Amino acid sequence: MRAAFSRRATALVLFKVALATLLVMLVGVRALAAEGGDEGQAPNPKPSRGTTTNMKVANFDEALSTALARRGGAARVTCDGRDPVARRILNEYGAVFFAAGGATPPPVCIFGGAEEVDSFQRAAKVSAQEMGGAVIELQPAAMRALLAARAEAQVEGLDITPRDGSESARRGYADTVRLWNSRLLPALEYWRGQGRLTGEEAERVRRLPVREQVGAVLELERAGVYFSKDFSKSILYSVAAPGASQHLSLLAFDAAEYADARVRQVLARHGWFRTVRNDCPHFTYLGLPESRLPAHGLKRIDTRDGEFWVPNSVDADTTPELARKAW
Ligand SMILES: [Zn+2]
Repeated sequence: MRAAFSRRATALVLFKVALATLLVMLVGVRALAAEGGDEGQAPNPKPSRGTTTNMKVANFDEALSTALARRGGAARVTCDGRDPVARRILNEYGAVFFAAGGATPPPVCIFGGAEEVDSFQRAAKVSAQEMGGAVIELQPAAMRALLAARAEAQVEGLDITPRDGSESARRGYADTVRLWNSRLLPALEYWRGQGRLTGEEAERVRRLPVREQVGAVLELERAGVYFSKDFSKSILYSVAAPGASQHLSLLAFDAAEYADARVRQVLARHGWFRTVRNDCPHFTYLGLPESRLPAHGLKRIDTRDGEFWVPNSVDADTTPELARKAW
């Protein structure tokens, strides 16, 4: 899928969608065929990343484009789907752009810096609430829905609480950079020591602007120079790219009780869904009834860890290794 949701033209942001290409479809098919070894689970012939429910699901890019057009001039999303890094972010975290029910979706795929995050969070408004011994902060609509879900859960003898204290909800740009650097810098040093990078190359990557740095790291990883903590897999297994976390949009909440299907059902009734494949505790406020998600280009996948609603992108399965946690 080649798609551009917007382009900057002087001060204005415009968006448009290009059509799917046969090439990318072929890549998608190849990825699907290659994913068998992903989890090392045995004799299940189904794709290891879960079963996709058989239902009519809109194409994600088309649904997003339609949604943005419907919102009119106020809807600005700077995210060029043709850019490989942005494409990955869209495929893995793009559900948040459909946030409705009074929520403000993020205006970008990847926030460019602290100022941009702060000004978005100010405009979207922040609602704070003590929950499970921590103060959590979300957009007001998301908070109202979460509190309503919690009240309903408690009536059923359940509860909904933050998994990691305050970090379970709002995060700042600096948090995402700090986490990123905690993986990046040791890995650059390691690979320099191994002779896979020269001192100059390592220094060049270290000095790149964040956005380019993410692209450079993902490129190096394609050649086996991995940046995870043990240098054996993608950095994105354990840390979000700076500026890309849904938590920056105040529309994500990591719930301690995520493993309880009854809790997930309660959250779903209040517009909270798990939209990031394999990130089990992570819920996203979409403010939509579950029945409407397929029309928004989100497909349900059922895994051994339960259900997820993820972007129905033709090429989404080309990057199954990327998202695991901390978004
Ligand atoms: Zn999360």
